[in-house]
Amino acid sequence: MDKLDIKSRTLAELAGELAGLGLPRYRAGQVFRWLSRGVTSFEEMSDLPKALREQLAERYVILGAEIERRQVSQMDGTIKYLFRLFDGEHVESVVMRYHYGISICISTQVGCKMNCSFCATGKSGFSRNLLASEILSQVQSASIDIGERISHVVLMGMGEPLDNYENVLRFLELITCPEGMNLSMRAVSLSTCGIVDKIYDLADKKLQLTLSVSLHAPNDKIRSQTMPVNKRWPIQELMKACRYYARTTGRRISFEYAMIAGLNDSDACARELCGRLRGILAHVNLIPVNDVTGTGYKKSDRTRQKRFVQILQEHGVTATVRRTLGADIEASCGQLRRKHEGGSGHEGSL
Ligand code: SAH
Repeated sequence: MDKLDIKSRTLAELAGELAGLGLPRYRAGQVFRWLSRGVTSFEEMSDLPKALREQLAERYVILGAEIERRQVSQMDGTIKYLFRLFDGEHVESVVMRYHYGISICISTQVGCKMNCSFCATGKSGFSRNLLASEILSQVQSASIDIGERISHVVLMGMGEPLDNYENVLRFLELITCPEGMNLSMRAVSLSTCGIVDKIYDLADKKLQLTLSVSLHAPNDKIRSQTMPVNKRWPIQELMKACRYYARTTGRRISFEYAMIAGLNDSDACARELCGRLRGILAHVNLIPVNDVTGTGYKKSDRTRQKRFVQILQEHGVTATVRRTLGADIEASCGQLRRKHEGGSGHEGSL
């Protein structure tokens, strides 16, 4: 790519660059607003002189996320998108409707390096990080497609956001920019498998986003079995970072816990989990593990789920069992994967 990725630029950066080309400040504002609306070409920037549009097109490229496939859940209206990127790579996003608005779960990398044993994404390896513009484009393309404003963004799709830290921070700056999409930082959640050094760094930025930590086990023995990242940063170090995060930002941390029958769902596990969370502003999100071919994991049954919640509550830990959305289109946690590349293809409508 020899042209510059214009949509990854912040308004200030764009203003600086365009000033260098001899353009007045308000031009940067115009261009930035067009980009925030998700235009895919400079021709669409109708209030710019034609010569300027051509000048920009020579220097810059507008990267997007083109809808290649779209599946709509017959059960709850959840939509799963397969997006095509400029170099032919693909990522998936999921749009969900809640009483409080419309939420999109987006990807931050093509594939993932983390290799959690229960997750589909890691199974196809890692290709590359997404650019800030490509993370943003998922929100824009979906919003244009449904013709509605997306009010909440969760960084919980394919990839590990804190393993693509710089671009993710840039994305956050872009999506919350008042002259751009103007989303509130409070409407953003970021989920991590536990990249401890970046949790400290993020804490110091004191952003008002919600941090979700994928815990999935109460001790190193079980966690190292399912999440290789635990060998690098064991639970104790992770929890120390979480304590620091909650204290520094004043924000409650959401702990994700995928319940796997017979592995991490015993009464003893629940009690041990309570011990781990002592003294942390926390909420536990229990997710009956979703089916991923080849893992052999089964979800805990309803009785187990209820009992687990009950133990947590008895210890003063707030917990909820997450509702499953998009089950019929494999749009649930951990199921996003570039299946089509194996030739099997997503069934569904466009
Ligand atoms: N890499 C980040 C975000 C992407 S995964 C992270 O690890 O948090 C989003 C969430 O789905 C994580 O909590 C992840 O552990 C969970 N997940 C992955 N596979 C799952 C499965 N089969 N069932 C339930 N949750 C799963």
